[in-house]
Amino acid sequence: MKERTLLLLKADALQRGLIGRILSRFEDKGFAIVAMKMLRMSKDLAKEHYAHLVTKPFYPDLEKFMTEYPIIAVVIEGKEAVEVTRLIVGPTNGSKAPGGSIRGDLSNSTSRNTIHASDSKETAEKEIKRFFKHDELFEYKMHNEHFLKASDE
Ligand code: UDP
Ligand code: MG
Repeated sequence: MKERTLLLLKADALQRGLIGRILSRFEDKGFAIVAMKMLRMSKDLAKEHYAHLVTKPFYPDLEKFMTEYPIIAVVIEGKEAVEVTRLIVGPTNGSKAPGGSIRGDLSNSTSRNTIHASDSKETAEKEIKRFFKHDELFEYKMHNEHFLKASDE
């Protein structure tokens, strides 16, 4: 039941200062961040990641958007992470995405929709490997009570 999935916080989220608020939604839901890095995608990486879209008329704009500026790649872990994350993210078109979802609340666009999330367990496995080496993924959740307290008392 415990799964991992890949998120990409897209350039619009960074430019608009939305990273903290977006990540909070996953932390609030109980997911653990087990990997995170800032990077710029190469054109080759974009073509691999969006292989299902390379023939679409909007692909050149998508590639430019995803490669011109830094993004943040994140792996989160938790119960039914793939499916629950897609619900938290909402449908592709922010204009039609329901309120309460990230895209519904933060985007009014089909292209600048703040975040990517893997769409199936199989995709998640491939996408995590695409962005992270094995030793960049961490098992760090501390069950010792000392670490779970916010204060020293
Ligand atoms: N996209 C776009 N125009 C479209 C459809 C998709 O620019 O008409 C972009 C958008 O950034 C989207 C990404 O391509 O998030 C990947 O599309 P996909 O259909 O996989 O949607 P997602 O899984 O992100 O909801
Ligand atoms: Mg997709």
